[in-house]
Amino acid sequence: MATETSILTGLEPRSFWGHFEALTRISRPSRQEEPVIEHVRAWADQHGFELQQDAGRNLVIRVPASPGREGAPTVVLQGHLDMVCERDPSSPNDPAEGRIELVRDGEWLTADGTTLGADDGVAIAAMMALVEDESLPHGPLELLMTVAEEVGLEGANALDGTMLSGTILVNLDSEEDGRLTVGCAGSTDTWIHIEAPREPDTAGAVTLTVTVSGGQGGHSGSGIALGRSNAIKVLGRALREALTSVPFRLVSLDGGKSRNAIPRDAGAVVSVAPDREDAFRDAVQKANETIRDAFAKTDSGVSVDIGPGEATAEPWTEAQTQRLLDAVALVPTGPLALSPDFDDLVETSTSLGEAITEGDRLTLHSLSRSSNDSAMPEVIATLDAVARLAGGTLEEKFNYGGWRPNLDSAALAAGKTVYERVFGEPPIVTAVHAGLESAVISGKVDHELDMLSFGPQIEFPHSPDERVSVPTVERFWKLLVGVVDELSRSGGRRA
Ligand SMILES: [Zn+2]
Repeated sequence: MATETSILTGLEPRSFWGHFEALTRISRPSRQEEPVIEHVRAWADQHGFELQQDAGRNLVIRVPASPGREGAPTVVLQGHLDMVCERDPSSPNDPAEGRIELVRDGEWLTADGTTLGADDGVAIAAMMALVEDESLPHGPLELLMTVAEEVGLEGANALDGTMLSGTILVNLDSEEDGRLTVGCAGSTDTWIHIEAPREPDTAGAVTLTVTVSGGQGGHSGSGIALGRSNAIKVLGRALREALTSVPFRLVSLDGGKSRNAIPRDAGAVVSVAPDREDAFRDAVQKANETIRDAFAKTDSGVSVDIGPGEATAEPWTEAQTQRLLDAVALVPTGPLALSPDFDDLVETSTSLGEAITEGDRLTLHSLSRSSNDSAMPEVIATLDAVARLAGGTLEEKFNYGGWRPNLDSAALAAGKTVYERVFGEPPIVTAVHAGLESAVISGKVDHELDMLSFGPQIEFPHSPDERVSVPTVERFWKLLVGVVDELSRSGGRRA
């Protein structure tokens, strides 16, 4: 076991904290996990556990059942080896070089000037501590340690699912204490490409820029039902409303920085006849007022502004301008269906994340999500219809399917039973409208996987403020120990 510094003295469970501290001294940025893979490999060798690695560099460590639990179903415990290595520029510490300086702050454990790597070091440390302790009963276990989770679930996407025989998967990468997560959204990217010919500008035309800013944005999945403005949609709306009274020609329309975020900024370059400039400014200003009123309660900072512009290309004709703005109006964005299982949870949504002008072409990039795979074709059909009506084409990229909540799941039943027994109250059972590695993993194995996810309270992950609540780590540990025991008991009886 690793030696403990004074910071961790007295914390329970000791073996967990020993492994956790050892991980803080090992470099493990995404895609550069070799040092931590070697660390785990040496540990598995030392304990005589069989270790397998796939071409994607993910690890599976096979741990035999405790005596008497051999007939239990095989359970996969899963977490990721990599971490986001962020640091304050002035900090002498650097996780990418294995220098994380632990700091206790009351009930919290954090790192001095860097990310802590509790996301997902707690999972790796918990797996190691659990299987080392011969007093803790469990059935056959497969410890799945993925790589490159933090860069688009790359490791899970490259997983060789034939390495896994387990029928139950417990993901240890949740960040909210007191919750059992039993579902997440799958996702598909689409791009509507519309080619529109340009024509020379009329002499003396005035070039202006119309920009949208000030919205709060947020995660395009978990934040999709908050009523936040989408800067590309707001821009399209302001321009369309202006076009009903003032002719103008669009030169470009761009917005959004990431498919994963609700766009906060968007801008268009337009060309207006000089005698219509004032009318155009008035029309955009009028649109701005109604748009601001529409978002008065949910995103009051959003605003549409006009400034001088520079034409970098010939404008689209008025007819093409109308066609492109119609397409922006038609692209749906927002929640489309609510979860039948959980209050206030979105089941299906789509978010227009990026608008890109390139040459004569406008591209509208959306990310659509659902935990219900069978709901997705209708969303994609809608986007395809928009593309066709606008005379464009749809490019589509399926990322991974959803994890649809199963409230009759044996894993969930075990989680609830143990939670209530240990903590004397029921857990919150929930799902998330975002992607989790579990959904990708279940798509890689040929058999059905009954899945459950939980973890301790981790706040501000991926930032130098990352911290984990120490008492909730102990709760997480007790839940994990109880769940592997419970799952091997029921299976043992059946066997
Ligand atoms: Zn994570």
